[in-house]
Amino acid sequence: MQEYNPCITCGACCAHFRASFHWSECSDGYGKVPVELTEDLTLHRRVMKGTNSSSPRCIALQGEIGNCVSCYIYELRSSVCREFLFSYQDGQPNERCDQARAAYGLQPIKPFDDKGHRAA
Ligand code: SF4
Ligand code: SF4
Repeated sequence: MQEYNPCITCGACCAHFRASFHWSECSDGYGKVPVELTEDLTLHRRVMKGTNSSSPRCIALQGEIGNCVSCYIYELRSSVCREFLFSYQDGQPNERCDQARAAYGLQPIKPFDDKGHRAA
């Protein structure tokens, strides 16, 4: 059975929040995030280009939000991106997921019921 992944038809968080992380996660440090897709935020922190804006959209986000999206650097993305879970992915709501989705007119992700079905 295909794993449930609402993110592939969403992408809202990649176009709502600033994606910042320690500079060492970049390819010129000890990590993999392509440094050319980032810019300096502070002495020690960098951001994904496009996300440090009043109307953010990460440079690595491809596709149409709320329809079909992908991350151009999915395997290379930073810890802040890898650790951002959709609501109930780990059984807990994520207010920031709900907030980002709401900004694009998308309903919050629902939890599973006690039979393992996603609540209506
Ligand atoms: S806002 Fe939530 S559902 Fe949408 S891409 Fe981000 S984590 Fe996934
Ligand atoms: S690097 Fe990928 S997962 Fe992270 S904000 Fe950009 S598009 Fe989203």
